Amino acid sequence: MAFNYGQFVSGGVGKQLATTLGLPRPSRLRRHKVGGSLVPGEVLVAGHGDAPVAERVRHLLAEAGVTVASRPSTSVAGVVLDLTTVETPADLETLRGVVGPALKTLAPSGRIIVFGRPPESATSVAQAAARRAVEGIVRSIGKEMRGGGTANTVLVAEGADAGIDATVRFLLSGRSAYVSAQVFRVEAPVADIVAPSDWDRPLAGKVAVVTGAARGIGAAIAETLARDGATIVAVDVPAAGGPLAEVANRLGGSALQVDVTADDAGAKIVEHAQARHGGFDIVVHNAGITRDKLLANTEADRWDSVLQVNLLSILRMNEALIPAINHGGHIVNVSSIAGIAGNRGQTNYAASKAGVIGMTQSLAADQAILDKGITVNAVAPGFIETEMTAKIPLATREIGRLTNSLQQGGLPIDVAETIGYFAWDANRAVTGNVVRVCGQMILGA
Ligand code: NAD
Repeated sequence: MAFNYGQFVSGGVGKQLATTLGLPRPSRLRRHKVGGSLVPGEVLVAGHGDAPVAERVRHLLAEAGVTVASRPSTSVAGVVLDLTTVETPADLETLRGVVGPALKTLAPSGRIIVFGRPPESATSVAQAAARRAVEGIVRSIGKEMRGGGTANTVLVAEGADAGIDATVRFLLSGRSAYVSAQVFRVEAPVADIVAPSDWDRPLAGKVAVVTGAARGIGAAIAETLARDGATIVAVDVPAAGGPLAEVANRLGGSALQVDVTADDAGAKIVEHAQARHGGFDIVVHNAGITRDKLLANTEADRWDSVLQVNLLSILRMNEALIPAINHGGHIVNVSSIAGIAGNRGQTNYAASKAGVIGMTQSLAADQAILDKGITVNAVAPGFIETEMTAKIPLATREIGRLTNSLQQGGLPIDVAETIGYFAWDANRAVTGNVVRVCGQMILGA
């Protein structure tokens, strides 16, 4: 088995060595458990001024059976702070006064969620400064968190407060274990928000198409969406037919062998989903490849194959998928941290994954998409423990694992959980977002 620093220092001689030398010891992250509580403890809810979002959060938590604290208790599991009404940087004292002391008592895998309004819609320069400052503070808190805790910002557009519930639930829960220092943007919902009757099955009755589902992150996406109630159409190349069928059979879904770069891939998916399942509600564009080399040594076919699989195929397939997807559906694209930070030897891959971000943001604002009430979002994974990353040379691999605030690699399920959140009908107010699932990786932060 390949060496894993995090496992080495979790017990025995490795633990002793790390303690003696003051080396980092990654915490075990709290992850979602079906039937478990939303958050394991009390949540402190506070705000500046009227704090309209805090009021909504208190109701939401009461409904979810979570005890709301208004002062730090001995060990709060999370802090939700409403800064939507800040007018000047002086108002940020509220944050220091509330979050500072609470950090001392925060339970393991604790959560800090700070709400603000978008700086772009500020009505004064001082207000824009204060609003933008929130993001800076929360990113810094993410770096100060201990015990596997996360800190995220949620910017809610004026008039969009009713759209926050899904994001609050996601961020407090174990579903967001590896998501930290992100900025979520909640806007007016693109279609009616439908809260599920069972929050453990938020995708009940939905049909989800997942490309690249035979293994790795794609297989985890298929499993997670199926766990949450969706029927899966698992898509992969014919060469992966065996494992693909195994995934689809295990989940009670169907398998479709198709190369996503084929001209008729989109049409085949539509035909299959309609014939077998009567249509589809969710599309996850996950299939992806790497063909790494320095740009100086990158031949045309190496360049082209990566752009074809990772980007051009999505644009082509969407021409068939978008007219056919059910009203109020969800499209989720898989980008990468390399598409944000760039990476040596990955110009082709970075081009494709940055292109995915451009495509996501443009498509989310497209009138045809808005008319159909479809959300379009992307995840950008950082270092995720897969067969692919297990093959990276030891030193580079350990750097990838440790250079983030959570001091460990993420798991495929962490990417899958974020994709699932984007696909909830309870979540129609988050579109055009790109969320990194990277444990606040230093790269491109
Ligand atoms: P993987 O190589 O384990 O799996 C990719 C799957 O896509 C395979 O089953 C493969 O057969 C399929 N696929 C490849 N080309 C295809 C094609 N033309 N048509 C249909 N299917 C095709 O990779 P992974 O690590 O699970 O990555 C999944 C996605 O996540 C990719 O888009 C990747 O770029 C992205 N990503 C991964 C990481 C990571 O750390 N593993 C980090 C950032 C982004």
